Amino acid sequence: MQNPFDQELQDRLVRYAAIDSQSDESVPTSPSTACQFDMLHLLRDELTEMGAQDVELTDYGVVLATIPGTAPGPTVGFLAHVDTAPQFNASGVKPRVISGYNGGDITFPDDPALVLSPAEHPYLAEKIGHDLITASGTTLLGADDKAGVAIVMTMARHLLNSPEIARGPIRMAFTPDEEIGRGVSECLPKDLRADFAYTLDGGQVGEIEYESFSADRAVVTVTGVSIHPGWAKEKMVNAIHLASKIVQTLPQATMTPETTADRDGFIHATDMEGGSSEMVIKFILRDFERDGLAAKGELLRQVCAAVQAGEPRAAIKCEIYPQYRNMRYWLEEDMTPVELARAAAKAEGIEPISVPIRGGTDGSRLTEMGVPTPNVFTGMQCIHGPLEWISVQDMATATRTCLTLAQMATKS
Ligand SMILES: [Zn+2]
Repeated sequence: MQNPFDQELQDRLVRYAAIDSQSDESVPTSPSTACQFDMLHLLRDELTEMGAQDVELTDYGVVLATIPGTAPGPTVGFLAHVDTAPQFNASGVKPRVISGYNGGDITFPDDPALVLSPAEHPYLAEKIGHDLITASGTTLLGADDKAGVAIVMTMARHLLNSPEIARGPIRMAFTPDEEIGRGVSECLPKDLRADFAYTLDGGQVGEIEYESFSADRAVVTVTGVSIHPGWAKEKMVNAIHLASKIVQTLPQATMTPETTADRDGFIHATDMEGGSSEMVIKFILRDFERDGLAAKGELLRQVCAAVQAGEPRAAIKCEIYPQYRNMRYWLEEDMTPVELARAAAKAEGIEPISVPIRGGTDGSRLTEMGVPTPNVFTGMQCIHGPLEWISVQDMATATRTCLTLAQMATKS
């Protein structure tokens, strides 16, 4: 370990990853799970102890804090989310450090069948000599996004101890429930008090992302005509058959998550439940462009209308709700925050990479609500599963990039 940040980042990630803070979409409260408070309280206390200003835990579950500026300049926000993904076991995480990775297959103590192989993960093959952190085989690691938390906390600690570094004021936010799309409360843009911000929630070194999906969700409710099956002739209308017809009529060989990549959007049936009298089908709609997203909503409505036309005794309702929008729509009007992050990466000797995110971040909502917020790399890999891993040195590169960015922002 040569870099002064390596040990601190490693210690922080190991410590934070061991704390269960998984979010749960089925719970309507904010935060969705009480365990996220274990992380939020810890961060609030650590920020207070290191001398950050205005430290608070808001009633919507976000820890906010200020690092006062040492020079005039815009207020820059740095965000990370404290929750871990609901898709995989995240309780009892046992982080494990592999010092000086030798380039071979990585095995896991709690699941001997599991192998993380550089042959299948080319990015891993680039990390020979790095110190890697993984979980033990039966849980995810939660580097998504505790790596982001560790990076922002390490940067904060360093800046609070280094008043000689000329930079403007910095605001920090640690959000809950990002993984279930509820990380940005209505109050956050105002309470953040930042001119622009960055989420530390990206993958490989160099990623500076400013495009996310635009997202809607849809709920289709099919109400049939219910009657005792013994007396049903020419009277019953079975909602199951009509719901099946809707699903069958929608594209399956195209326009689904499993048949699209890059810039193509999709209609994804996520959920179907009910019975012969009523069925509810849930969809998510995704596209990078407004027109494309609207067209997908229109296609879904047309399919519902066609099935409805074939069975006027049924009632088919199609409701579409907006979720988040591609942050590019706002960022392209003023690319300063993106250009700053790219320039900071270049100053650290890294080639910036900007690929569209096939998902959303807290920055998607924040940008739409008036705080331009691109996404910056942390190094996290194979997220949301047992192979999740990260290089400590990649995290240190992200930390240095953020520090350089904070100094460059005073001149923007
Ligand atoms: Zn994340």
